[in-house]
Amino acid sequence: MPRPIHATIHTAALRHNLTRMRGAAPGARVWAIVKANAYGHGIERAFDGLRGADGFALLDLDEAQRVRTLSWRGPILLLEGVFEPRDLELCSRLNLWHAVHCDEQIDWLATHKTHQPHRVFLKMNSGMNRLGFAPERFRAAYARLQALPQVDEISLMTHFSDADGDKGIAAQWHAFQHATDGLAGERSACNSAATLRHAQDAAVRGDWVRPGIAVYGSSPDFPAHGMAHWGLQPTMTLSSKLIAINDLPAGASIGYGSIFTADAPMRVGVAACGYADGYPRHAPTGTPVLVDGVRTRTLGRVSMDMLVVDLTPVPDARLGSEVTLWGRASGGAVLPIDEVAHAAGTVGYELMCALARRVPVEVDE
Ligand SMILES: *Cc1c(COP(=O)(O)O)cnc(C)c1O
Repeated sequence: MPRPIHATIHTAALRHNLTRMRGAAPGARVWAIVKANAYGHGIERAFDGLRGADGFALLDLDEAQRVRTLSWRGPILLLEGVFEPRDLELCSRLNLWHAVHCDEQIDWLATHKTHQPHRVFLKMNSGMNRLGFAPERFRAAYARLQALPQVDEISLMTHFSDADGDKGIAAQWHAFQHATDGLAGERSACNSAATLRHAQDAAVRGDWVRPGIAVYGSSPDFPAHGMAHWGLQPTMTLSSKLIAINDLPAGASIGYGSIFTADAPMRVGVAACGYADGYPRHAPTGTPVLVDGVRTRTLGRVSMDMLVVDLTPVPDARLGSEVTLWGRASGGAVLPIDEVAHAAGTVGYELMCALARRVPVEVDE
């Protein structure tokens, strides 16, 4: 028998979350962001739940090819554009739309031979300071693109650094709006957090929203708001079983480094899940976990293949009891991935993306 750990991708939850995000941006079209192999879910596994999107946005040409292989004929957007001139040939061949964020990408387009002009998303750096043209250089880039026979429609995009927090989007939004005023083209600015928190404003939501993390059932502004607050459902469950149960006397300690010591007699369980499965090694004692759907906590250090859980609240736990590391237990109880991530000092994004290759994945309805 293989190790009892497995992950499940919930197709119905992907569909639900996508519908939820569409509802948050009425009238806008929705890019389902499927970069990083659909946030660790697997593009092929997530596709059925996300095929109701208006397009798929990602980074890797290889991933774009995989989406076309799934017979998707609609829009695909390369969020960082192309990485070298010859990538443009694939864009022509597969009809990929691509971001344009720097002068070199315009130079490459200008020498590209194609019968079919490309649709591009001209990116503004409105304050994130990663990719894009500064506001004062945006119009010149737009004019250059407009003059190229290789370019068809030009859309305008930017990306917010603080849509999930107190700083908000006001300064970046102002910069974007001011620098694009009067330019023809569709607009796209909102990631998940901006779609949920700021897209009531029709101008902000624009023509296309770009939700990623919320589609995968993680709240973009946890702990301010959890997934339930936003009406999202978990799309990935990581589940395992107890492979040992130990009754510890007072004074016994657990695992590498003996960082947890029982101060009274207690029953603990050993779950077949460790950092080699993608569970965060830095999750401290007290990180939430479900055993047979009952909420309890981890104890001591997470090791490569195992972690230890407190069975005090689960007196009926047995060998083979279900352990839910995040997601939905078979009885229906939910442990949001955001709570586990928060306890471990990270975000739901990182845990999803880090699901290890050795974990078998199934897809349910
Ligand atoms: C990843 C990404 C998104 C999605 O962000 P979430 O926070 O996951 O919603 C949107 N736009 C761009 C440009 C991105 O790179």
